[in-house]
Amino acid sequence: RKRNPGQDEFTQAVQEVAEDVFSFIQDKEIYHEYQILRRMAEPDRVVSFRVCWEDDEGNIRVQRGWRVQNNNAIGPYKGGIRFHPSVTESTLKFLAFEQTFKNALTGLPMGGAKGGANFNPRGKSDHEVMRFCQSFMTELYRHVGADVDVPAGDIGVGAREIGYMFGQHKRITNSFTGVLTGKGIEYGGSLIRTEATGYGTAYFLAEMLKTRGWDFEGRTVVVSGAGNVAVHAAEKITQLGGTVVTLSDSEGFVHDPKGFDADKLAWVKALRNQRRGRISEYAKEFPEAEFFPGRPPWAVTCDIAVPCATQNELTEEDARVLLGNGCVAVAEGANMPCTLEAAHLFKSAEILYAPGKAANAGGVAVSGLEISQNMARMSWKQHEVEQLLVDIMTDIHQRCVEHGGRAGTGHVDYVRGANVAGFKKVADAMLAFGVV
Ligand code: NDP
Repeated sequence: RKRNPGQDEFTQAVQEVAEDVFSFIQDKEIYHEYQILRRMAEPDRVVSFRVCWEDDEGNIRVQRGWRVQNNNAIGPYKGGIRFHPSVTESTLKFLAFEQTFKNALTGLPMGGAKGGANFNPRGKSDHEVMRFCQSFMTELYRHVGADVDVPAGDIGVGAREIGYMFGQHKRITNSFTGVLTGKGIEYGGSLIRTEATGYGTAYFLAEMLKTRGWDFEGRTVVVSGAGNVAVHAAEKITQLGGTVVTLSDSEGFVHDPKGFDADKLAWVKALRNQRRGRISEYAKEFPEAEFFPGRPPWAVTCDIAVPCATQNELTEEDARVLLGNGCVAVAEGANMPCTLEAAHLFKSAEILYAPGKAANAGGVAVSGLEISQNMARMSWKQHEVEQLLVDIMTDIHQRCVEHGGRAGTGHVDYVRGANVAGFKKVADAMLAFGVV
C-alpha cells in the first residue's frame, strides 16, 4: 500500500495472490532470493498519454489513456483495452497483474498487459467513438506490435472500437499485422472470439460441477452484466441445461423467472450491440420479467452465481445473502468482481468458487488462437476453435485441481490453484532469465 498510494484495486489484487503464493514459496528459497513476486507486482512499464478528440459540436475534449505492460516473461504482452469513466492507473495495474497469471494458465505464450482510457462511450455518436479510437491509437501504436504487445477488447471496447483502432494502426504504420485481437472476421478475426469469455466460463463451471457429480440440469443461475461476457455465459449455460434468470447493467437488474432462452438472448444482443439500449427495456418487451432499479441481482435465490459486470460488484453482504439462499457455486466471468471479504466467505464455506483468472480465461485463450491463425495466415473453422476452447478450459481446471486440491477431502481451492499454477509458470521463466 505504501508503495502504491491510492491504488486500492491494485493492492487488493496483489494481496489476493500473495496470500497463496507466500505459502507455496515458503520452503523454496530461490523465489525469495530473486524477489520474484515483488518483481511481478511492479509493472515492466506504465505508459500514460493524452488523448485529444473533437466532439460533434466542435468542442475539443481531452482524455487520459494508458498501457500497463506488466510482464512479458512467457510471451508478448497481451490484454484488453477498457473505455470507461471509472478507469484509473490503479484499475489498469490490477487488471494487467491479473492478466499475467490468467495468460500463463491458458498454456499459451502470452505475457500480461492492460490498457484503456477514462472515456465514456455511452451516449457518444459513432463518429465521436471513431475519432476517439483513432486519436487513442495515434499514440498507442508506438508501444504495441504483433511481437511486442497485442491488445484486445474489454468493457466499452467491442468489435466497433477494435475496427476503428485497427484501421488507424494500419493507416499510420502502412502494415497489416495481427496487432489487435477481437478483429472482425473479414480482416483477420477468429470465429468464437466474441463468445469465448462467456462460453469458457460456462465450460469451466461445468468442470467444477462435475467434481461433485453435478451438472447444470435443473439449476437456477443468476448472472450480472448484460455485455459481451454476461450474454455469452448465459447463452452457453442455457445450452448446457441451466436456467439463467437475471441480467443487469449499472442501472439495475431484470429478473425473468422463466429464464433467458435463445430468442430472448438474441433480443438482448441486438439491444446492446445495435441499439445500445439499457437492460430495463427488457421488462417492457417481455412482461413475465421485472426490472429492479439501482440493485445488483444477488438477492435472487439461485444455485449458481456468475458475476460478469465489473470489479468489486459482489460484496461481503451479497456473499452472505447468496450463501444463505443455498448458492453452491460461484464463477467469476468478470475480473475480480468479488471483494476480498466476499471471496474469503466463499472460500471458508467451501462452495465451488472460481476466480476470474481461471474462469474467464477463455477470451484471452481464443485471442491467443487468433494470433496463431494470423501468424499462419489461415483461419480455423468454428467447431475447431470451440473444441480448442473446451480443451483449454478443461486444462485450466485440471491445473487448478493440481495446485488447489485438498488431499483427502476432494475439495478444490480454485483461487489457490490458479494463483500457484500461474505464478509458477511465470516465475520459472523469470528465473531462467536471471536478473533482468
Ligand atoms: P461490456 O462493456 O460488454 O459489458 C459490461 C457490462 O457490465 C455492462 O452490462 C455494464 O453496464 C456492466 N457494468 C460495467 N461497469 C459497471 C459498474 N460499475 N456497475 C454495474 N455494472 C457495470 O464488457 P465485457 O462483458 O467485455 O466485460 C465484463 C467483465 O468481464 C469485465 O470485468 C472485463 O474485464 C471482464 N472480461 C472481459 C473479457 C472479454 O473478452 N470481453 C475477457 C475477460 C474478462 P453499463 O452498460 O450500464 O455500463
